[in-house]
Amino acid sequence: MHRDTRKHDVLIIGGGPSGLSTALHVQRIAPHLTSRILLLEKEYYPRLKLCAGGLTLDAEILLERLGLDVNEVPHVLADELRFDFESSGLRIRNPKRHALRVIRRDEFDHWLAKQAQSRGIEIRQGVTVKNVLAQADGVIVETDQGTLHAQVVVGADGSNGVTRRCIFPSDPLHTARVLEVLTPTHHSPIPPSRNGGAYFEFSPVPENIAGYIWDFPTQVKGKPMRCWGIYDTNLLANGKRPPLKAPLAKEMMRLGFNLNDYEIKGHPIRWFSPAHRLSAPRVLLVGDAAGADPIFGEGISIALGYGALAAREISEAFQRGEFSFRSFKRRVVRSALGQTLLARWLIANVIYSLKWRWFQILLWRMVKPFVLLIAWMFVLNWGKRMPTR
Ligand SMILES: Cc1cc2nc3c(=O)[nH]c(=O)nc-3n(C[C@H](O)[C@H](O)[C@H](O)COP(=O)(O)OP(=O)(O)OC[C@H]3O[C@@H](n4cnc5c(N)ncnc54)[C@H](O)[C@@H]3O)c2cc1C
Repeated sequence: MHRDTRKHDVLIIGGGPSGLSTALHVQRIAPHLTSRILLLEKEYYPRLKLCAGGLTLDAEILLERLGLDVNEVPHVLADELRFDFESSGLRIRNPKRHALRVIRRDEFDHWLAKQAQSRGIEIRQGVTVKNVLAQADGVIVETDQGTLHAQVVVGADGSNGVTRRCIFPSDPLHTARVLEVLTPTHHSPIPPSRNGGAYFEFSPVPENIAGYIWDFPTQVKGKPMRCWGIYDTNLLANGKRPPLKAPLAKEMMRLGFNLNDYEIKGHPIRWFSPAHRLSAPRVLLVGDAAGADPIFGEGISIALGYGALAAREISEAFQRGEFSFRSFKRRVVRSALGQTLLARWLIANVIYSLKWRWFQILLWRMVKPFVLLIAWMFVLNWGKRMPTR
């Protein structure tokens, strides 16, 4: 048992991208607080995290601004993004660079944690937080290894996180269901046109699955692999949740893969809604605990973005000596991150509610310039508009 009687200034619960980004951004904008941060992670790095590992350009921009070189992490570059309905649709290429970088989360999060440690941030691994109690003069954090006290707590503990459950036990969940499968890359029936890109297939939408099936190139310990999965926001569920396995199995079978031959894993993603509360006095929520992208369940860049905003909120709170965090939601909503999250929430509600086959064909195949314009304006390109200092 670790006895710790110090009162920590900034206690971050969770060492995924949102918690590590918060710590790295605090270190960058308020270096005097660095030695006063403690990050608690229940696992030991490199730890498994179910995730397809698609890193968008916005994530890369946020990492670059922290002075980090993500090329150090093993990766596969996809040169094209393809958004299909029944195998035909929209292609997005960036003439100057890759369209998507695919990493494995055990490697990426371990690398990010090492970067944080090398900059002086204390990470305590193998500590599980059990309860979070916010009081007027500080926060009590009960763990499986004793009780800690903090000036402020950052809940970066993911979609099922204990921080949100303790602080806002009755808040809406808004979680997507997600299944993921890893397969070898080679299978003779794969059409050559399917190689080198990251695929999103929206054919499950008319079947009341408000989401898509993905197929990304990836690697595991240097061996080329494919990562498949299915994402359902549950926006069309109306109490009934259509099974996810059958449409995923059908799509994989079309390309010569039998889902039953592989291990299938599931994990929820809490997506952003304007109804979510993001802070309470002395407590901030970031990453999936606050809400990821509702359209695709994209959450790594979003988690990094929340970290940048939380760090500013924390730095200013310590300057003022006032920890209500009353304005954190306003800060998020007004930021480039908040603008994209709001737009994505609206777009998800429209494109998944209009679930008819003819609409999905129209959307992905017929009005490509319009879809590209909306994507360019509201979904992508927000990273470079985030504050730097
Ligand atoms: C199947 C699947 C595929 C996905 N694919 C993509 C993708 O391709 N691209 C993308 O951008 N996003 C993807 N996402 C979403 C992405 O994984 C998340 O949005 C992202 O991980 C959120 O980061 P986070 O730091 O908020 O939470 P997490 O990454 O979940 O990190 C939370 C951390 O907190 C720790 N923790 C939890 N509880 C406690 C506790 N009580 N005490 C101490 N520590 C605790 C956990 O061990 C973990 O390390 C996917 C998600 C799933 C489920």
